[in-house]
Amino acid sequence: MKRLFLLTLLCSTPNLLAQRATPASTPDLDAAGAAIGAGCCGSFLFMVFAMVAIFVLNVALLIWVARDAKNRGMDNSVMWMILVFFTSLLGLIIYIFSRPQGDLVPCPTCNNKRLKVSAKCPHCGNP
Ligand SMILES: [Zn+2]
Repeated sequence: MKRLFLLTLLCSTPNLLAQRATPASTPDLDAAGAAIGAGCCGSFLFMVFAMVAIFVLNVALLIWVARDAKNRGMDNSVMWMILVFFTSLLGLIIYIFSRPQGDLVPCPTCNNKRLKVSAKCPHCGNP
C-alpha cells in the first residue's frame, strides 16, 4: 500500500510542480491519495471478511452433511464430508441427489432424527 501511495505521488509530481503556482491543487491531490489508500484498505478488509464468511459457511455445511448422513444411516459420512470440503456446492448437490431419499422423523426411543422408511434407528438401533 505504501508502494502504491509512492507510485501515485511519483505520477502526480510533474502535475504538482507544474501547478505549484496555485497552492489550492495540493490538498486535492492529498485527498485523492488518501481516497486511493482507503479504497485499497477497504477491499483488503472485504476480502478477509469474505474469506472468513466462506470458511464459516463451509464448516457449517460439513457439520450439516455429517449429521444428515448419520441420520440417514449412511456409514460413509466421512467420505461425503471430504467431498463437500473439496468441491463445496457441487459436492453438496451430488450428496443431496445420491443420499437415501425420504422424510426424517424423530425416533420414538432416542428422539434423534431418522429416516421414516429405515428398518432401524441409526442412533440407538431400535426398529
Ligand atoms: Zn433412536
